[in-house]
Amino acid sequence: MTSKQALDNLQQTFTGDQVALPGTEAYNRLNYEYLSIRQSEYTPSAIFEPNSAEDVAQFLRIIKANEAKFAIRGAGQQPLEACSNIDDGITLSLSRLADIEVKSDEGIVAVGAGATWGPVYEKVQAAGLGVGGSRSAKGGVGGLALSGGLSFFSTREGFICDNVVNLQVVLASGEIIQANATDNSDLWRALKGGGNNFGVVTRFDLRTFPQGSFWGGFIFYAVAGDNYSRQVEAMVNELRKPDASDETHIMVNLGYSKQFGGSMMGLNEIYYTGPDAASVYGSKGETTRKASVPPMLEPFTSVENQVDSLNSLRIMTLIEGATEHAVASQEHVRCAYMNCTVRADKDTLLAAAEIYSKAIEPLKPVEGITLCLTLNGYPSSILRRTVELGGNVLGLDARESLVSVLLLTYWKNKEDDEKIIPVLQKALGDIEKDAEHRGHKVPYVYLNYTSSFQDPFTSYGEENKRFLQEVSRRYDPRGLFQSSVPGGFKLLS
Ligand SMILES: Cc1cc2nc3c(=O)[nH]c(=O)nc-3n(C[C@H](O)[C@H](O)[C@H](O)COP(=O)(O)OP(=O)(O)OC[C@H]3O[C@@H](n4cnc5c(N)ncnc54)[C@H](O)[C@@H]3O)c2cc1C
Repeated sequence: MTSKQALDNLQQTFTGDQVALPGTEAYNRLNYEYLSIRQSEYTPSAIFEPNSAEDVAQFLRIIKANEAKFAIRGAGQQPLEACSNIDDGITLSLSRLADIEVKSDEGIVAVGAGATWGPVYEKVQAAGLGVGGSRSAKGGVGGLALSGGLSFFSTREGFICDNVVNLQVVLASGEIIQANATDNSDLWRALKGGGNNFGVVTRFDLRTFPQGSFWGGFIFYAVAGDNYSRQVEAMVNELRKPDASDETHIMVNLGYSKQFGGSMMGLNEIYYTGPDAASVYGSKGETTRKASVPPMLEPFTSVENQVDSLNSLRIMTLIEGATEHAVASQEHVRCAYMNCTVRADKDTLLAAAEIYSKAIEPLKPVEGITLCLTLNGYPSSILRRTVELGGNVLGLDARESLVSVLLLTYWKNKEDDEKIIPVLQKALGDIEKDAEHRGHKVPYVYLNYTSSFQDPFTSYGEENKRFLQEVSRRYDPRGLFQSSVPGGFKLLS
């Protein structure tokens, strides 16, 4: 009963309102606040909310002394089961570490690890700045900044993890250290993709940049004829163009949901973030049907069979763009992500869409189902930026543009889990096999969109995985974050 002893110690050490026990209003609320109900179904012995990095250090001492297990939770927005929650252990919920301070003179925003992106954007936007973060205001900073991540600005600014200039980390020893390009630089690099394997990060210092309003939004259309294929082709063309703008961000989706009347729908999420966005392409609030379109995005805005009432293209602020994504996403539903990466090749992507479309047929009658194949472009400019900003451990090659293929699924009932996951796993496997056969598969798997049957750290390549293992042994010699934090993907078994 080690978690019982740890709980007793926690209650003796901290004030009552920091330790939420089963059956209390605080516990029920915190345990409900996950994106996926599949995470809320875990029932920790308690949920502990530290008020400071020192509280986290004390928590780790108590955990170690009692050989208890725990989960680390940012905002609980990653759907992977038990990645940020736990049975028979204590969930360390960082939600009170949510201070946000813009330090314009240092070109950073210092963000508490429990913050969500919406409040971060409010602060940086008020200072005329932007920051690389989630496209959704609801997303948590911690899980995203430790794993890679795409923002509206990635084509110009790199992965979200590349923009972390310093982290405050509580190590297994209880020591509170900084990791950046000069201090503990090996840990800094490892945390740019290494997840929850090295310590509890309590603060992220993120690079800011000047950013005004930008152009973009959603275009929904009914899939018919070759209109979806032409979107994929346009995406590939843009990704492979030698002189492509680094001010675009493009996502091409193919999905099914009963609310769309039972037919396959397409969704283009497209953005132009250049400094001339507002002055050249329309004033704030004006819809694109009246304003002009950035020329490189015209193939996406001219797609046929559009649902005009859902067209949201306009000039928007960062917070408006991120709120649109937050409102569009579902929450407290059953949810699963899985993903792979391929080269930006039209035939490979169209084959993936065909495999997916056939595979999901038997799932369409499932209650509350939403099925989506999302293509996220990784232009080579992102990958070059990684190098300029100090490198990460993702193992991606800057010589060619890539596409992340995400299978995203929401549904209602637990009894459908067993029906849904194997179908999607098989579809992903078939997509990978086909891409491999065409010579266009890339090993990389994005940690945040990963399912439990996948192995993201092996996908980073042997050298990066070995580096991560070495850093884990250096900063956590007794393997606390390997054995006492079972959630997420581990480096050493
Ligand atoms: C609506 C929506 C939009 C999204 N948009 C984007 C997007 O634009 N771009 C993108 O790349 N992804 C996006 N995602 C993915 C999402 O941002 C990730 O799933 C991310 O992990 C969520 O972070 P979190 O802190 O809430 O995660 P949590 O579920 O709290 O944690 C995820 C993992 O990180 C670990 N962790 C979290 N914080 C810490 C910490 N401080 N120290 C150590 N370990 C920690 C946890 O232990 C866990 O293993 C989106 C997701 C949703 C639901």
